[in-house]
Amino acid sequence: MSVSSNNQPSDPRTPPASADVVVVGAGFSGMYLLHRLRAMNLSAIVFEAGTDVGGTWYWNRYPGARVDVESLAYSYSFSEELEQEYEWEERYPTQPEILRYAQHVADRFDLRRDIYFRTRVTAAVYDENHATWTIRTDHGDAVTARFFVMATGCLSASKLPEIPGLSRFQGATYHTAHWPHEGVDFTGMRVGIIGTGSSGVQSIPVIAEQAADLTVFQRTPAYSLPARNRRLRPEEIAEMKANYRAFRQAQRESGFGLPTPIPTQSALEVSEEERNAVYEKAWEVGSLVAILTSYTDLTTSQEANDTAKAFVHRKIREIVKDPQTAEDLCPDYPLGTKRPCLDTNYYETYNRDNVHLVNLRRTPIVKITERGIRCSDREYEFDAIVYATGFDAMTGALTNVDIRGRDGLSIKEAWRAGPRTYLGIASAGFPNLFMITGPGSPSVLSNMIVSIEQHVDWVLDAIGHLDRNGLKAIEPTVEAQDAWVDHVNEIASYTLYPKANSWYMGANVPGKPRVFMPYAGGVGEYRKKCDEVAARGYEGFVLS
Ligand code: FAD
Ligand code: NAP
Repeated sequence: MSVSSNNQPSDPRTPPASADVVVVGAGFSGMYLLHRLRAMNLSAIVFEAGTDVGGTWYWNRYPGARVDVESLAYSYSFSEELEQEYEWEERYPTQPEILRYAQHVADRFDLRRDIYFRTRVTAAVYDENHATWTIRTDHGDAVTARFFVMATGCLSASKLPEIPGLSRFQGATYHTAHWPHEGVDFTGMRVGIIGTGSSGVQSIPVIAEQAADLTVFQRTPAYSLPARNRRLRPEEIAEMKANYRAFRQAQRESGFGLPTPIPTQSALEVSEEERNAVYEKAWEVGSLVAILTSYTDLTTSQEANDTAKAFVHRKIREIVKDPQTAEDLCPDYPLGTKRPCLDTNYYETYNRDNVHLVNLRRTPIVKITERGIRCSDREYEFDAIVYATGFDAMTGALTNVDIRGRDGLSIKEAWRAGPRTYLGIASAGFPNLFMITGPGSPSVLSNMIVSIEQHVDWVLDAIGHLDRNGLKAIEPTVEAQDAWVDHVNEIASYTLYPKANSWYMGANVPGKPRVFMPYAGGVGEYRKKCDEVAARGYEGFVLS
């Protein structure tokens, strides 16, 4: 596996023995945390496994990697100067453009001096007598802190598939989330790619243009919508900059962290003709949510969803010339219940002579061999294999660290039957530990920068409240946590989300409990709830 990005010496500096706050992760969450902690005059240390800031956008350098939320919306709102002065180039920028933005923010706010790069946090133990955490790193350092914040990302613990023989392959292997910094030249190569989630869908068209031959191994087809990416026009940038405050407020109050028109009609109330005209228009918009927000009931009613599903199936059949390939690409689960993808020429790519689709439902992979991939019917030979096989999402990065709370309680044990949090921010038994966009918060069902800023602001307001009141510890009660977990499950049960075997449900990791992890009640409703909790003196938490 190529992980060239991290084959570098460790950070030469030794971190101080103590700090007010230790943050893990220097993606958009950790960066904003550090900026705000400094403004509160709290000492802060950030540990980051990578060699630079950016998190997701540092690691996921696969060809075709792009954001699927528009740049003018997928950006920080905390600094008006940053908002006004930063120049985005594309509607849906590539990974290098977003990484440049993260690096610009790090430079602008001088963040790197408190970030210890190439340093992985391995363990953290709570000391109840002193109300402090001791955080340990893979370099043997230990830092004691009053507060410990896991800003480790929902999608940062990458995952290889459980296929026998992974290490036997003699050619080159890559995971989309650990792409070599120097890039990969597939020219003239026979390439196999496993996985057709967003990472696969984005990389397949680009790899296909380079490789001599590309074989796609698909277990579950994705719903992919055209991005209609383009360069931003100066007048639309100017318009957004003139209206940013109102736009940001609308983002915060919206369902997905993206202001969208609120539908008023059921998909079943209108004629098929009218519905298809609406879907057609939404298909042209180039947006993740345009179709799903066309009617009130597409995420809650199977019958309504079936109409959108049929529309996308028709599109796939129109684009893909080979009828069997087109059928194999049509998903059988409700639209939106697995994260939809936003693509550039994904379905069109299957019309190329050098691209082949293998439907693993018909011919499953048996093993990886020295020469390639053996399916139940035959062996495919490759020069390179790409794993676009995703992440141990939402909980993986949290449980990868040996976190021990009160009385040595391990987070892995506490969450054995599924993650248990209050508001997705904190967990009973783990005082003074905060999670940014943890399970039980809108997180991955939103424009994540909106959710990140809201969580960071809420957590730091809570720390400010403790400090102003001479308090040392904050921890959710088991009752408040149980009620929140029930609420998250109840909201999910009104939706179609649990109908798909998605990473939202933990279904992509063998043995992981089947629990719908994000909060599906919407960003605006969630924010209101968090604000109410704070306004009522941190209701549901014990402050001591
Ligand atoms: P991350 O960016 O994941 O950063 C977490 C950091 O923590 C990483 O750098 C990691 O190295 C570090 N870390 C983890 N564990 C440890 C440890 N133990 N020790 C030290 N360091 C550690 N969201 C959207 O809203 N819109 C999009 O279009 C979008 N596109 C995406 C595309 C891809 C390919 C992926 C994978 C995710 C995408 N997301 C998108 C979600 C994306 O993760 C968030 O938008 C956002 O970047 C998360 O920021 P973060 O700082 O919370 O986490
Ligand atoms: P993913 O959505 O989990 O997709 C992983 C793919 O690998 C799935 O098709 C999965 O099939 C397949 N797979 C896993 N194990 C397999 C096995 N043993 N055999 C065969 N196939 C196997 O991961 P991802 O594509 O990296 O995306 C994860 C999330 O990151 C996205 O949902 C999105 O939130 C974010 N992301 C966003 C963008 C963007 O456009 N901005 C780009 C990339 C990622 P099954 O479905 O059958 O399990």
